[in-house]
Amino acid sequence: MKRRTLLSGLSGILAAGLAPGLWQRSFAADPEKKRRVVIAGGGFAGAKTAVDLKRLVPDAEILLIEPEERFFSAPSSLDVAFGRIPMASASRSYDLLARKGIRLIKGRVLGADPVTHNVETSQGSFAYSALVAASGIDLVPEAIEGLKGENALSNLSLYDRKRLPDLAKAIADFKGGTIVVSAPAGAIKCAPAPYEYTLLLAHHLKSRGLKGKVVLIDDRPNPQPQSVASGFSAAMEAMGPYIDYLFQETVARVDVKKREVETGMGDKIAYDLLTLIPPNRGSALVKTLGIAGQGDSFAEVDPTTMKCAAHEAVYAVGDAARTPYGISASSSTQGALLCAAAVADSFGVRQPEITASAPARIQTVCYPFAGPELSMRTVSRFQVHMDKGEMKLHSDPDIEAKGTPVNLAARRKWEDDLLASIFG
Ligand SMILES: Cc1cc2nc3c(=O)[nH]c(=O)nc-3n(C[C@H](O)[C@H](O)[C@H](O)COP(=O)(O)OP(=O)(O)OC[C@H]3O[C@@H](n4cnc5c(N)ncnc54)[C@H](O)[C@@H]3O)c2cc1C
Repeated sequence: MKRRTLLSGLSGILAAGLAPGLWQRSFAADPEKKRRVVIAGGGFAGAKTAVDLKRLVPDAEILLIEPEERFFSAPSSLDVAFGRIPMASASRSYDLLARKGIRLIKGRVLGADPVTHNVETSQGSFAYSALVAASGIDLVPEAIEGLKGENALSNLSLYDRKRLPDLAKAIADFKGGTIVVSAPAGAIKCAPAPYEYTLLLAHHLKSRGLKGKVVLIDDRPNPQPQSVASGFSAAMEAMGPYIDYLFQETVARVDVKKREVETGMGDKIAYDLLTLIPPNRGSALVKTLGIAGQGDSFAEVDPTTMKCAAHEAVYAVGDAARTPYGISASSSTQGALLCAAAVADSFGVRQPEITASAPARIQTVCYPFAGPELSMRTVSRFQVHMDKGEMKLHSDPDIEAKGTPVNLAARRKWEDDLLASIFG
């Protein structure tokens, strides 16, 4: 190891409040010694993995590395955007995790050496016995022609937590006109969000007697997820002239000076409020760590353990990983438990109720808004096991493609319970 790296590692350890003596600890499988797990990213997946792991292996040393000041619950984004709750109610202090014995380091993971088991961070380097990539998905607004640099500020995206308060103000102050929303190509965080958002914007216009419409430019042929497509289509049709649904259409470019979006078909749409969802890409960190699958930057994992195929003792969880469970907070936190159990297992702490029960059982839930006071329901129960490297998947969905107040209440409870399971 270079001297500079070692020194920065020591300063990082001191900054994190760790004893310098820990630095050169051997992490060979000695049950007497403390095990160190480094988790890159403190979103739903990383935070839940940390909490589950601390519960399963109380003597493990868990370093959670995260650049943001506070945790934000993205499923509350719509409530924040429509002024139903303030940003603060949808966020949590990371101190709540520190109180559970998890060590938090404000910074970024920059890379890792899978041979020496050292991870490089903006706060120094750390030896690890297990490394978990939980760095989510990257948003790439600059991939839209016309939205590079300062021009990106013209777009108030629902997916950009930093600009949610500005978006909430823009929606509250909106005096009427055309709002342009998009659902970009490829896998996106929370597949139903663009349709929920479109519906809630249309209801907002209608309920305030504002003249105008929402134009949704969707790369797909119909709303997602497929299980509730019919419910979304019916709810959007019911909004009549308040929604223009352009399916199998793309945003080709934006002219922020003319306040105009040009579609792939060459249509030009003048906007009064631009609120596009930027293209989503697999996390850059996944690529840097060398755990990406072919053709994109989602980590290739065994979906029963979240263990990466590429390197020993490296795991990926949440939006950063490619799994059959979908991209959501629900699947991220379910995967987190599998990951924590597999890491515990690697330390010799067996979790018979989780890991020995082949196949892995996962239940993901989603309650998409069909209107301001109505939600649909899609519950997916998965059973997964690996058979000679092949994934065998059985899923058993429970779907209600019609908005009901009961599902909305279940949505609220689901998010409260999820946050309590991590921060409570
Ligand atoms: C508008 C919106 C609505 C949604 N609604 C729902 C819903 O109703 N239900 C549902 O189940 N899901 C919903 N989701 C999806 C859900 O929020 C995500 O799937 C979930 O947050 C994924 O968790 P994650 O931890 O994998 O990623 P994230 O929550 O994105 O967290 C990743 C973390 O990693 C950090 N990070 C990134 N790079 C590094 C690095 N190099 N080093 C260290 N840290 C790093 C980031 O700062 C971030 O905090 C919604 C998402 C959005 C955007």
